[in-house]
Amino acid sequence: MPTQTALGVLRGRPVPMLRALARGGWKERGTCRQTDPELWFADTSRRTKARAASICASCPVRRPCLAWALVFDEEFGVWGGLDAAERFPLQRRLTTGEPLATVLAAAMAAPVITPTSPQAA
Ligand code: SF4
Repeated sequence: MPTQTALGVLRGRPVPMLRALARGGWKERGTCRQTDPELWFADTSRRTKARAASICASCPVRRPCLAWALVFDEEFGVWGGLDAAERFPLQRRLTTGEPLATVLAAAMAAPVITPTSPQAA
């Protein structure tokens, strides 16, 4: 984990998304609420993680979900299609002052690893 947290850097800045994230209403619309939570939080194989990520890819709240995990330092599980190791470099970017919207845009544009991707094998 970075020594400076993303929330610490963002606190005090005009980031309207933070308030919406903290209210948490987006969680009610997550696709994972209708599926097995083990997919997202089990000590998973790459293939299982890829299965979760492929579901996240079409989730209507993927963006706030990933933002939540980055800002509030979620250490475990798949959030917004990314596991902790994949989120770490994004958190680093936030702690160096890069805007949350920029970091999220880059993450959302990256290809999602699905169970059939070579990386999932
Ligand atoms: S992006 Fe994935 S982890 Fe986040 S709410 Fe949607 S399905 Fe759940």
